Amino acid sequence: MKTDRLRANSAPVRVPAGEIALREREQRNGHRGCVIWLTGLSAAGKSTIAVELERVLFRNGCQALVLDGDRVRLGLCRDLGFSPEDRRENIRRVGEVARLFAEAGFICITAFISPYRADRAVARELMAGGKFFEVYVNAPLAVCEARDPKGLYARARKCQLKNFTGISAPYQPPLNPEVELHTDRLTVAEAVGKVLRHLRKARAIGTRAWTDRALPF
Ligand code: ADP
Repeated sequence: MKTDRLRANSAPVRVPAGEIALREREQRNGHRGCVIWLTGLSAAGKSTIAVELERVLFRNGCQALVLDGDRVRLGLCRDLGFSPEDRRENIRRVGEVARLFAEAGFICITAFISPYRADRAVARELMAGGKFFEVYVNAPLAVCEARDPKGLYARARKCQLKNFTGISAPYQPPLNPEVELHTDRLTVAEAVGKVLRHLRKARAIGTRAWTDRALPF
């Protein structure tokens, strides 16, 4: 049986990796297994773009899956809050799950504020080079606050929510993201198109002809 090296508690251990090589999965899928990591303020548009990107990829025969805060915080991370330590652990777990999906050949799209650079770097380091795409979903705080689809900014301004990113907790923007989306200037379709163009240039997708003639790129 083939094995992968994995570090657990800093001691290297060998874990079974199964008989199906990632290469075989990727050949069948017609794209690479990878992680698309969306980061940005609340209401910047991460979930909206993630869901639309997933839809376009799915329509074109790709194995794509969105992980977002609501889904993860109801289950896998329901024991965690919003302190810096809990946010770190939340992102660590998401990074590990995203890696598992990428190893299974999926395009795993994550939509988390993930405000700390160091935490995002940990998620990136789990992935081989060229398989982690950091996408900075960038809208000015004032725009996010005006959108406020869940009323969270209003509650944070009234001090009803502690540790709210952009108001009472910091956001560290990416210094060198693979893609930056100014969602105050781009439509959702344009933003999705920009990500897809990058993925194609990086040869993560497009290894097989796509059926969708109305692709936004
Ligand atoms: P986040 O996941 O970053 O918290 P959401 O996607 O939940 O953000 O909410 C963003 C809100 O902004 C949605 O109501 C969406 O319809 C709206 N919106 C307006 N313009 C855009 C855009 N160009 N891209 C993404 N979202 C947009």
